[in-house]
Amino acid sequence: MADDAIRCDACPVLCYIKPGRTGSCDRYGNQGGKLVRLDPHVVLNRAVERGDSVVPFLERSAEWDGSLVSHGETFVTAIGAGTTYPDYKPEPFIISSQVEGVDMVTVVTEGIFSYCGVKVKIDTDRHLGAECSTVRAQGEAVGHVTTSEYGSQMLSLGGVRHLTGGSRHEGTATCDALLNLCNGKAVELEIDDGVNVVVEAGKPPVVDGVREERMRVGCGSATIGMFAKQWLGKVDEVVVVDDHITGVLSEHQAGKLLGISETGVKLKGRRSTPGRYFQVAEPGTAWGGTDIDDPLSILGKFNAKKAWPGLRLLMVSTTGEHYRYFELGEDLRPKERELPAALGQSVARIKENCEPALCTVLFMGGAGGSLRAGVTENPVKLTHSVRDALTRVTCGGAPVYVWPGGGITFMVDVTRMPQNAFGYVPTPALVAPIEFTLKLADYGALGGYVDQVRPLSSISEEKDGKKAVAARKDNPWPLEAGVKSR
Ligand code: SF4
Repeated sequence: MADDAIRCDACPVLCYIKPGRTGSCDRYGNQGGKLVRLDPHVVLNRAVERGDSVVPFLERSAEWDGSLVSHGETFVTAIGAGTTYPDYKPEPFIISSQVEGVDMVTVVTEGIFSYCGVKVKIDTDRHLGAECSTVRAQGEAVGHVTTSEYGSQMLSLGGVRHLTGGSRHEGTATCDALLNLCNGKAVELEIDDGVNVVVEAGKPPVVDGVREERMRVGCGSATIGMFAKQWLGKVDEVVVVDDHITGVLSEHQAGKLLGISETGVKLKGRRSTPGRYFQVAEPGTAWGGTDIDDPLSILGKFNAKKAWPGLRLLMVSTTGEHYRYFELGEDLRPKERELPAALGQSVARIKENCEPALCTVLFMGGAGGSLRAGVTENPVKLTHSVRDALTRVTCGGAPVYVWPGGGITFMVDVTRMPQNAFGYVPTPALVAPIEFTLKLADYGALGGYVDQVRPLSSISEEKDGKKAVAARKDNPWPLEAGVKSR
């Protein structure tokens, strides 16, 4: 170029980058006329032992020392490795190593994923929004509320429709939200006709400004089953308020087997099976994920033939966060009383059995035809090899779950990956590291770029910009077990 700009060909944007400047994604720059991947290339080192579960980048003093060894203690990740484009070019690094006398090869690239998103699990029984409600970031639609799970609300964010199928703003906001979530940053999300929730991987969710503390111990029915024995003799009736299944001790099988008498309690909502009620209230962010602040609002009149003055009634939520204690007066109406100490212990036990509420962020992407073509000239063979467990897929060295069926569609827990492993390109699409590890012999058999394989030691000659990171002890070592041979 006349102005010394050089063209980056690492993605379809094909930026022209002037000397000293970076391209649109800030991943590549022009340094002295040379196209340079700006972030350090991360290499995992198993020899570095750490006690904590989350391993940050080593300090600068521990930057690459060039002491690469090829006995399987070092794993070359795709983080900072760069991308090749168009698809037929071999991936940036195809590295051989020896593990217990077996020649292995690891093919790494920073994949550009248009077909990707995150699945978010938010441990709370509070109602965040109705299923299928739109989830927004920066005012743009970036995903939706999906089926809730046991004690958790679930969001599905991203995907090709939000990245490419809407306005430019929608695509950019989606890419931004995904990038931040995957890199472990807090992201504020608005749910249509629902709440505002701040999500950060591995941290408690913040729902409408309130930090969630506990995940519920179980549904209302399960809570009755778990604690019925502990209530025996201390209280006559217990109602565990839950948006999904509210439990009633005296009617529940757990109460029956313990010989607990009928109390004449009357629940609103729809009776499912004895002691289990659905739809006692509307979903909300109050008692047990309902919208009620007054638990008595879900009770009808006590049956005068069965109830008695002085009947002791505990009403509690599934986290123990909300509880109130009543005794029936002469008119058989509940009168609030101070919680007896013995019942206080059972409420404390419910709380104790609740796990800390956390947000979990799983990146999900599809390693499509283009990415696979950088591994082998016959891409479907890579898919078959992954399915046959001959090739291990990792993301920044972290284990992934590969979905059965066609393609290489995988999920990875972003907290098991090194920090800031993700990037983006303004197409928009997310950039995620992906590594394929297999035996060298198998790589040749599937039509791999064997002529591009180079030894691990060759990387040390390019040590500038490399960074060693301690491998997490709770991640399986990518070069080991799981890679079979034909
Ligand atoms: S967006 Fe980034 S990767 Fe794509 S061409 Fe520009 S600098 Fe290169």
